[in-house]
Amino acid sequence: SDDAPTGQIRRLDEATVERIAAGEVAERPASVVKELVENSLDADASRVEVAVERGGKDGIRVADDGIGMTEDEVRRAVEEHTTSKISGIDDLESGVATLGFRGEALHAIGAVSRLTITTHPRADRADVDAARGTELRIEGGEVTSVEPAGCPEGTAIEVEDLFFNVPARRKYLKQDGTEFAHVNTVVTSYALANPDVAVSLTHDGRETFATTGQGDRRAAVMSVYGREVAQSMVDVEADGESLPDGPLAGVSGLVSHPETTRSTREYCSTYVNGRYVTATAVRDAVIEAYGHQLAPDRYPFAVLFLDVPAGDVDVNVHPRKLEVRFADEEGVREQIRTAVESALLEEGLLRSGAPRG
Ligand code: ADP
Ligand code: MG
Repeated sequence: SDDAPTGQIRRLDEATVERIAAGEVAERPASVVKELVENSLDADASRVEVAVERGGKDGIRVADDGIGMTEDEVRRAVEEHTTSKISGIDDLESGVATLGFRGEALHAIGAVSRLTITTHPRADRADVDAARGTELRIEGGEVTSVEPAGCPEGTAIEVEDLFFNVPARRKYLKQDGTEFAHVNTVVTSYALANPDVAVSLTHDGRETFATTGQGDRRAAVMSVYGREVAQSMVDVEADGESLPDGPLAGVSGLVSHPETTRSTREYCSTYVNGRYVTATAVRDAVIEAYGHQLAPDRYPFAVLFLDVPAGDVDVNVHPRKLEVRFADEEGVREQIRTAVESALLEEGLLRSGAPRG
């Protein structure tokens, strides 16, 4: 019979292996959006437009005005483990300047969806002559067509019917609103970190936010969270070197007035060496700096960037999971607390006294 007795060890067929591996990268709509937005930023885009349908379950589209790809390049890009960003392990040791480098995302997304890439090399690319547009389609891992296409410079990637061929995973996707909330967190975090890029997000045809790409961090905060929040933000700026205990993290960014808060910690966006991370230690340190000025169960807005010497942080604990490990976590927390505290103090926003009710 087909039912192998327990204990029999078999090699999985390649299609199964491929879909399992793809699920590691493309876990849910938000993880697909993250990979595509990172690719656009790595491609030197000054504009990134994200549009999703039904929380991303039915459709995801990310369009940019970056360097684009030639036909040869886009054919290579969707193969397994292909990247233009590093050439070997030495590049990893010396630190990677791009957001991506694993060369897995496009291949993985193509394995579990219907993927259409339309791309046109940007005119300023010296390595391309006679640039033409190309449209490449993949369905469930099979390239089904590659054709010339009239399209603007840059790249547009459309992902339809995510997990159409992995029903078990499709079934575990949450309601549209929940999936969209995750997408929103991802796009927001990149928009806030890249005020020089015009980032927009649309859900079921309605624009959620759009940054101008012209402003500073405060302008990006205004586009994403609104005028009231932007006006309440206080500048944080602490130079790594000037801190008491040696070569430490630089801390910079914006934190909100203690009375401009929300009921969840999610509006505390933190970045380590330019990468968005969800480090509980970092977030807690920001909150601690407010002391009793925060009402119970209220949390500030923050867009905070840490500059940590490459040897003192491991950002690659798991590329998808947004975790980081610090060589000296308590030291980093202390620096954040101090930096945020002094910013609040300078604005006269920290007083001793009873917590507000
Ligand atoms: P990685 O980003 O780790 O290199 P991906 O699978 O995400 O791997 O992308 C593979 C390659 O496809 C990239 O290295 C890049 O050369 C190209 N690519 C992907 N997205 C874009 C884009 N939006 N614009 C230009 N090139 C892109
Ligand atoms: Mg990538």
